[in-house]
Amino acid sequence: MQRDLFSEEHEMFRAQFKRFAAREIEPKIGKWNHDGITDRDTWQRMGAEGFLGPCMPPEYGGGGGDFRYDAIVMEELAYIRAHGLMTGVHTSICMPYILSFGSEEQKRRYLPPAIAGEMLLAICMTEPGTGSDLAGVQTRAIRDGDHYVVNGAKTFISIGQLAGLFIVVAKTDPSADPPHKGISLLLVEADTPGCVKGRKLEKLGLQAQDTSEIFFEDCRVPVTNLLGREGQGFKMLMEKLQQERLCIGIQSVASCRRALDDTVAYVKQRHAFGQPIASFQNTQFKLAELATELEVGQAFVDRLLAAHVRREDVVTEVSMAKWWASDLQKRMAAECLQLHGGYGFMKEYPISQDLADAAVQSIYAGTNEIMKRIIAQRLGIG
Ligand SMILES: Cc1cc2nc3c(=O)[nH]c(=O)nc-3n(C[C@H](O)[C@H](O)[C@H](O)COP(=O)(O)OP(=O)(O)OC[C@H]3O[C@@H](n4cnc5c(N)ncnc54)[C@H](O)[C@@H]3O)c2cc1C
Repeated sequence: MQRDLFSEEHEMFRAQFKRFAAREIEPKIGKWNHDGITDRDTWQRMGAEGFLGPCMPPEYGGGGGDFRYDAIVMEELAYIRAHGLMTGVHTSICMPYILSFGSEEQKRRYLPPAIAGEMLLAICMTEPGTGSDLAGVQTRAIRDGDHYVVNGAKTFISIGQLAGLFIVVAKTDPSADPPHKGISLLLVEADTPGCVKGRKLEKLGLQAQDTSEIFFEDCRVPVTNLLGREGQGFKMLMEKLQQERLCIGIQSVASCRRALDDTVAYVKQRHAFGQPIASFQNTQFKLAELATELEVGQAFVDRLLAAHVRREDVVTEVSMAKWWASDLQKRMAAECLQLHGGYGFMKEYPISQDLADAAVQSIYAGTNEIMKRIIAQRLGIG
C-alpha cells in the first residue's frame, strides 16, 4: 500500500540516501559487526551529505526539514540492518535536547560539528544501579565556583566510545524532595579531564553499535555547560521521550519488513517433500498473519509520525506503538527464523541476527513494562 505521509521531496531524499547507503554503508556492515563498532569516516560522510540533522535549522548546518527526514534515514538503516549507525541517538534524540534547551552559545558550539558528523553525541541516563527508575540516578554534579564537579558511573551508553559530547543526567541537588526535582542535564565534552570511557560492552545483538560504560571522576564541567535550568532535567527528559519512543516504533516496523521480505524470498526457493515450503499452508498462514500485523503496525506508526510532525501530544499512543511494534519485531524474527529451518540458526543467514537484534527493542528507550505503566496511568488506573 502506498504510504501517503511523505512528499516528493521526502521521496527524493530517500532515493538519495538509498544510493549513499548502497555505496558507503552496506559494504561496511560486516566489518563493523566484526569490530563491534562503526567508523568515524562514515559518520562524517553522512554529515557531509546532509543525512545527520536534516531536521536541524539551516543556521547550524541542518537541512531545515521536518522529522520525517530523520525517520527516512532510520527506516532505511533498519532495513539494511545497519544497526551500528545509531543515527537515532545522535540525530533524533541528542540533537533536539541542544536545539530545544541549549543557549545560543551551546547551539553554535555543538550543533554544527554534530550535524557534520565530526562530533558524535550520546546520552548518559542509565547507571549500574538505575535504569527504569531514572529519578534514582546517583551521579552528582555539585557546584564549585564556575564549575560543576561531576562524579558517577553510567552504563549501556550507545555510541559511548565514538562520542565527543555526552548529555549527562546528574543530581545537582541530591537532597531534593521529590528526588526528580534535583536532576539537571549537563553537556560534558568527552575529553574533559575526569570523563573516562570504560569498557565497550559485549552484547547479544546490535554487534556494531558501541555500547559503553562512562565514568565521571571529579570531572569539572563549566557552569556554562548546564543545559536549560538547574533542577529541570527530569522535565526536559520527559518532554523528549515522545520522539525517542517513536524512533523505536519506526525502526521496529522497518526491521519487520526486512525480515518478512527475506523470509518470503526464502520459502519460495527452499524445497521439502518435493515442493517449495511456501506451498505448505502453515507457511502461508504464518506469513499472511505476520504481513497483516506489519501493515497494522505501519499504519499506526505512520499516523503517529504525522501527528508528531504536527506537534501533537501522542505520548500515550507512542508508548503503545513502542511496546507493540518492538514485540512484533521479536515475534516476527522468531517466526521467520523458524521458517528458515536450520539455516535460520546459522550466522550466514541474517535472520539469525535479527532475532538477537530484536531483543533489545523492548528494553531500551523505556522498557515495554514502563510503556504499559504510562498507558495505564493515562487510562487513569495507574
Ligand atoms: C543496547 C543498549 C543500549 C542502550 N543505550 C542507552 C543509552 O544510550 N543511554 C542510556 O542512558 N541508556 C541506554 N540503555 C539503557 C536502557 O535504557 C535501560 O537498560 C532500560 O531503561 C532498562 O533499565 P535497566 O536495564 O536498569 O532495567 P531495570 O530498570 O532494572 O528493569 C528490569 C526489569 O524490571 C522491569 N521493571 C522495572 N520497573 C518496573 C515497574 N515499575 N513496573 C513493572 N516492571 C518494572 C523492567 O521493565 C525490566 O523488565 C541501553 C541499553 C541497552 C541494552
